[in-house]
Amino acid sequence: MKLNQLERLLENLEGFSDPSSLLEQYRTSAPLAARLLFHAALKGDIEGRRICDLGCGTGILAIGAALLGACEVVAVDIDTPVLEIARRNAEHARVDILFLNADVKDPVTPSRIGACDTVVMNPPFGAQQPHADRPFLDASLAIAPVVYGIFNAGSRSFVGSYVAGRGEIDEVIGGVLSIKRTFSFHRDEVREIPVEIIVIRS
Ligand code: SAH
Repeated sequence: MKLNQLERLLENLEGFSDPSSLLEQYRTSAPLAARLLFHAALKGDIEGRRICDLGCGTGILAIGAALLGACEVVAVDIDTPVLEIARRNAEHARVDILFLNADVKDPVTPSRIGACDTVVMNPPFGAQQPHADRPFLDASLAIAPVVYGIFNAGSRSFVGSYVAGRGEIDEVIGGVLSIKRTFSFHRDEVREIPVEIIVIRS
C-alpha cells in the first residue's frame, strides 16, 4: 500500500462523536498517522508484528497498522462509546482488531494486553491533566521494546529523561497535528500544533 492510499483510507474513518476534553480526545490527522505508520513499517516494526495502540480513540493508528500487515493489533481505550466507533471503523476498513476497554494507569493493564513488538500511540499531551502522558510511557515500555509516540514539540528531553534506564530515544521526527475545532474553548477552525513523533527502543 502506498502512503497516499493509506492516508485516504484513514481520512475516511469516523471521528469522535462527543469528544471529552478531560480525556483529550483529539483525533490524529490522517497525514500524521500515515506518516508515523509508514515510517514504522519501513523500519520493520509493523509487518508481521503484534502491535498495541494505547489510547486508540477512534482507532486510526490501530487500523492503519493492521492495513500495513501487522499480525495482530490490540487497541486499548478507557472510553467505552469511543471503542464502539473504533469497532465500526475497523469493520468498515475490513481489519480484525482486538479491542480492550482499560485504563492505562491500572497496573493490571499491561498483563491484560500481553507482550507486543511495537506500541503506536497518540497519548493525551497533559493539557487537561498534567503528566497524563506518563502512564502511557510506563505501560508502553512494560509491554513492548519499541514505541512510536506523538508528543508536543519540545518533549524530547522530558521523554528522554523519563524513560532513562528503561529505553532510549532512537529518533525524533517533527510533524504537525491539524486539529479541527473540537471544544468551545477552541478559537480557530483548524489549529496546527507542532508535534514530535518520538521513537523509543529498549
Ligand atoms: N489514538 C487516537 C486518539 C488520541 S486522543 C488517535 O490517534 O486519533 C487520546 C485517547 O486516549 C482518547 O481516546 C482517550 O479516551 C484515551 N485515554 C485518555 N486517558 C486514558 C487512560 N487513562 N487509559 C486509556 N485511554 C485513555
